[in-house]
Amino acid sequence: MEEIHELVIVGSGPAGYTAAIYAARAELKPIIYEGSVTAGGALMNTTEVENFPGFPTGIMGPDLMDNLRKQAARFGANLITDDIVEMKLDGDVKTLVDGSGNTVKAKAVILAMGSAYKEIGLQNEKRLSGRGVSWCATCDGFFFREKEIAVVGGGDSAVEEATFLTKFASKVYLIHRRDSLRASKIMAERAMSNPKIEFIWNTEVIDVLGADNMTGLKLRNTVTGEESEKDLGGLFVAIGHLPRSELVVGQVDLDAENYVTVEGRSTRTNLKGVFACGDLVDHTYRQAITAAGSGCQAALDAERFLSGHH
Ligand code: NAP
Repeated sequence: MEEIHELVIVGSGPAGYTAAIYAARAELKPIIYEGSVTAGGALMNTTEVENFPGFPTGIMGPDLMDNLRKQAARFGANLITDDIVEMKLDGDVKTLVDGSGNTVKAKAVILAMGSAYKEIGLQNEKRLSGRGVSWCATCDGFFFREKEIAVVGGGDSAVEEATFLTKFASKVYLIHRRDSLRASKIMAERAMSNPKIEFIWNTEVIDVLGADNMTGLKLRNTVTGEESEKDLGGLFVAIGHLPRSELVVGQVDLDAENYVTVEGRSTRTNLKGVFACGDLVDHTYRQAITAAGSGCQAALDAERFLSGHH
């Protein structure tokens, strides 16, 4: 007979790994699908994390994720570096299919798929992706040595990326559609006092220019409507994220922006035995520490559910 596991966790950011640590310590023998290319989640693309409690001198994002991963493994979580490509989540036994075609069955599932980079939505942005257009400063910054480049966005990601990119680029323009930043004060001030960063306010990117490689941007002033072109060697898009809920559409309740909805302060979705945590449910806080906290809640909710199940 096919084995029915207690718990499968899908996703491996701070939420997924924390859920795995708690579930493994509760002896639920969780299987955690880390993702084939995105194991570790968004923090794998970050440099120093200064605000995760417990690390007074900061820690590099990938090191933090590696620590969480090892901690989950230490208590017996079964870590699988593959994607889940299909899920059937109703009924008492949930069925999941992985990227290698294997089927895994479980009584409970924790969804922790996180979020993906948001695109501006321009045709040439996609076409020139990897040819001057990037979503990850820590991955690609090195290729922009001594170039004049731009970052678009006004949140913490945009100011963090702009500040990081000044290590390589000769100049970084930070293009924001309004006249004030959404970013936290400390990070905004750091960017504003950086002589290599120049802010272009009230401006949106309406096209990415270039044949084989990006050569510039077409811009529009959001107040006057005036359009202009600017020669630039690169564009980093840092305009937020979208929840990665596409695999559960039509099964689990989502809100208008496609975040998974949960019952009150719990991690319970509308389906019995299915729990959700991290950036997949959170529009508001979206921090590594809040994701980790909700991963812990999801494991505790799953444990409670499974103990009633027996
Ligand atoms: P965010 O806070 O949602 O900011 C997105 C920014 O992009 C906003 O300024 C928004 O403009 C702009 N934007 C959205 N759609 C746009 C579009 N189509 N065209 C042009 N601009 C657009 O996203 P985030 O910066 O990625 O941050 C997400 C969360 O992670 C936040 O909670 C943040 O604090 C956290 N974070 C923390 C750190 C850290 O502490 N080290 C680092 C990175 C991120 P408007 O302002 O006009 O809406």
